[in-house]
Amino acid sequence: MTETSFESAAATLPQTRHLATDVPGPRSRALHQERTAHVSAGFGVTLPVFIDRADGGILQDVDGNRFIDFASGIAVTSVGAANRRVRQRVAAQLEKFTHTCFMVTEYDSFTQVCRWLNEHTPGDFDKRTALFSTGAEAVENAVKIARAATGRPNVLVFDEAYHGRSLLTMAMTAKVNPYRLNFGPLPGEVIRAASANPLRPSTGAEAGNAAAALASVEQTLAESGPETFAAMVIEPIQGEGGFIVPAPGFLAGLRKIADRHGIVLVMDEIQAGMGRTGTLYASEYEGVAGDITLSAKALAGGLPLSAVTGRTELLNAVHTGGLGGTYAGNPLACEAALAVFEEFEDGTLLANARSIEAAARELLEPLVEEIGVVAQFRGRGAMLALEFADPHTLQPRPDLAAAVSAGCHAQGVLTLTCGTYGNVIRLLPPLVIGDELLRDGLDVLRTAILQAASSAAPAASIS
Ligand SMILES: *Cc1c(COP(=O)(O)O)cnc(C)c1O
Repeated sequence: MTETSFESAAATLPQTRHLATDVPGPRSRALHQERTAHVSAGFGVTLPVFIDRADGGILQDVDGNRFIDFASGIAVTSVGAANRRVRQRVAAQLEKFTHTCFMVTEYDSFTQVCRWLNEHTPGDFDKRTALFSTGAEAVENAVKIARAATGRPNVLVFDEAYHGRSLLTMAMTAKVNPYRLNFGPLPGEVIRAASANPLRPSTGAEAGNAAAALASVEQTLAESGPETFAAMVIEPIQGEGGFIVPAPGFLAGLRKIADRHGIVLVMDEIQAGMGRTGTLYASEYEGVAGDITLSAKALAGGLPLSAVTGRTELLNAVHTGGLGGTYAGNPLACEAALAVFEEFEDGTLLANARSIEAAARELLEPLVEEIGVVAQFRGRGAMLALEFADPHTLQPRPDLAAAVSAGCHAQGVLTLTCGTYGNVIRLLPPLVIGDELLRDGLDVLRTAILQAASSAAPAASIS
């Protein structure tokens, strides 16, 4: 990853891991105590340290600890959390105005973001874009658009799907705890079909077999009548559900099914898009274009911005005034997105994503054979995961994922878990992470895995 001269070029923080105190340190502990006195207990936290500064591949806390960032604020700060171009563009915009509301008076950065997305999202057809603030809003608006365009009510979603925490998107999300628990009743007209999870196939589908999963999808559609479906919404690589890369041919098969029944195919690229997997959009790997593609998370370098991009006839099927939102496409966020687009121009970030995959594969993939607790190493580019389970019975080992995470956190590496069983460690480093820092973090992770594997009880004794 020689092009990742980021460390020397622009980082505002030393790009090295450093432990100044225990984790969390005394200042973070005090601030956390204060937090519990004021903040809703409904918010959880992965690592209770308070961040003072962040840039490149480093998060620095209030106790002076520097963590290697394998989270990117959940796949958001791909260009770094204090990217120079983002800071400059946002600062310049701050001097002019912070907000007008695009539904009240216009500004050109909104148009330019839409234009870039129309040109760069998959699909060789005429497009329009609508901007919003959060990923969940983008998903909800895609459903609104598909319903308006087709006059149909139903939405098809998939096993292991994650689409957000608003009322409609939590109904579209598969996992009950924590996302849906106690929050019902849920909106109707959301119907779930089999996914093509190569390791843990849905009922009725065979492992690694896209054809079986597709047949199951057809059956699910037939039960309600395919002509009742406005949209099918799929993540090209499932995120919160476990970084699951669908069996080859599944996305292409869905494309055919959608075409056959006049259903709008919505690619939820909110986590996998914007360069995360080594291509601008993850659906490019399968050569499949959604009729609508959703962008958010890494779109604006940490400022809240989301987008629905798709066929003109769909995006323009909505009555004027039917889409919008007070903060939709906020001018600071639009400037940040334009800076992110500039960062992607020379191809370095996409190459970095592929180099990150190569380094992680080299260090971590052998663990699948070496120790009997990693069932799979998977993912693409800088969206990678290890699933902890007995390789023969596939009994999930969330205890090991938790132990490995704790081990990493104590050593100054921030990792996240995910998956239906909470037994997956996922890696989402910023695409600007330096090679040395990356390898240091991967070494810490590898050591934590070996330690957890050797000291943990065997699967059989876990109830
Ligand atoms: C994060 C995410 C969302 C929701 O985005 P928010 O900004 O949290 O509302 C939707 N879909 C996918 C695939 C995501 O990863």
